[in-house]
Amino acid sequence: MSELIPISMVAHQAFCPRRAWLEAVGETTDTHQVAVGVQAHVPADDPSGSRSRRYRAVDVVSHDLGVVGRCDTVELDDDAAMTVVEHKATPVRRRPEVTEAMRVQVALLAGALADMGYPVAGQAIYFTNHHTRVDVPLTPADMELAREMVAATARTLAAEDAPPPLEDHRRCSRCSHISVCLPDERPLAPVTRRIVVADPDTQILHLTTPGSRAYVTRGRIEVSKSGEKLGTYPIERVQGLVVHGNVDLSSGLIREVLWRSLSVVWCTSSGRVSGWARPAQGPNGGPRLRQHVASHHGRIDLARQFVAAKVANQATLLRRHGDAPATVTRLRELQREALEAPSLTDLFGIEGDAAARYFEHFLTMLKPRVVAAEELTFSVRTRRPARDPINAALNFCYGLLTADMLRAVVACGLDPHAGFLHSSGRNKPALALDLVEEFRAAVADSVVTNAFNNGEIRARDFSTVLGTTRLGDRGRRALISGYERRVTGTFRHPLFGYDVTWLRAMEIQARLVLGVIDGTQPRYQGIKIR
Ligand code: SF4
Repeated sequence: MSELIPISMVAHQAFCPRRAWLEAVGETTDTHQVAVGVQAHVPADDPSGSRSRRYRAVDVVSHDLGVVGRCDTVELDDDAAMTVVEHKATPVRRRPEVTEAMRVQVALLAGALADMGYPVAGQAIYFTNHHTRVDVPLTPADMELAREMVAATARTLAAEDAPPPLEDHRRCSRCSHISVCLPDERPLAPVTRRIVVADPDTQILHLTTPGSRAYVTRGRIEVSKSGEKLGTYPIERVQGLVVHGNVDLSSGLIREVLWRSLSVVWCTSSGRVSGWARPAQGPNGGPRLRQHVASHHGRIDLARQFVAAKVANQATLLRRHGDAPATVTRLRELQREALEAPSLTDLFGIEGDAAARYFEHFLTMLKPRVVAAEELTFSVRTRRPARDPINAALNFCYGLLTADMLRAVVACGLDPHAGFLHSSGRNKPALALDLVEEFRAAVADSVVTNAFNNGEIRARDFSTVLGTTRLGDRGRRALISGYERRVTGTFRHPLFGYDVTWLRAMEIQARLVLGVIDGTQPRYQGIKIR
């Protein structure tokens, strides 16, 4: 016996096959529409709110139609005949219009009730925003269409590839999943339509005070140390947690964060990512499998873009703020060479050459009086251990960037470990590190140079012991604050032409990689600042 299909899934199919696919692979969004829809359904989802002649949350099943579902409300008339009343929140619609998807949904609910042996007298939609009830009389053609939609939904769910997004369609503007579907971004050209950003009011909570403990109580995250309360934040405003160094999280807080489909990233106090926790349920299980296959076989096209965008952004930052025009010219050449690189080995050669040239002149992006006053020296990257304050600051900001990219990669269901430039065999979060490359100069290097130039961090914020330079608590807070300003600040997207935050740009890049993997994105392009 074939599996029964949820009626809500068939309604999504009637709205847009790709929407049904996104729902099926577990993509959820927290847009205003979704929040309003959930809120509007709270009474309808509560069977204890049933009264005589009006039942709520009535489960239905039809093996003939091949569907299962739940009626929001079923009303009984004097003859005990039933009317199905579906509740719809349509906050972006001016008028209470019954769409084809709604007709299909009530047709299947009524058909299933009839199959279960109940007399059905009619169907209606109650528009919660408009406080308006609209009767929906059905014809045999509606039932026929409903059956066809069930079959089409089964095909969508069984398909290997994701259905392509609708092209330039008005419906997308009303779709709650536009921010994860990205229908307008697929052609990698300017976007004229408004984009719905995931949730601009939420933020990343960085926990930095050594020896403190964070826990959840009455819907708020509280942080305390030695009995003193250091801070309290409403949990619904939190988009993710980043824990720096020796900070304890209560298991209740970890559970709550994961339950809300958010993630936690733990970093060492020098910014190195040491681990992360992700919810058990994540979207795109199928594409994730394909990601592993693609990672195993290699995708040089993706790797080329990661490196070319990285080198391009190094050149732009150096052109804007430094004093090394010949190096900028050479970096532009290397950027072009990266796009033609025949192998990963060649790409690594180009990347290494570009990095050596760029960092050789990195100090020219700092104000000479700051360099002199703080006695700063720098010519080469030293990762672990850092040998000087600039390297220590860069390491720390690259850690912050990796934490954000990890969250973006996990949020769209990809596996941080299966990469295309970095080797997955090195047991590092290879895909997150691949994507970080594009953002290093534009975000992290920019934060570090600004922080030194503006006096937000000083040489005295670092200590050097036996050749290892460490960032102190004050410097760490200053860099986190500069970094947060940078990633939550908006800029004009170089490709799509709309204003986005850097955080959102990270998620878009991760979703473009996902599109290449699920077959809806013809090619990938790295983000290059101008
Ligand atoms: S945004 Fe458009 S293409 Fe994407 S799921 Fe929604 S309606 Fe379909």
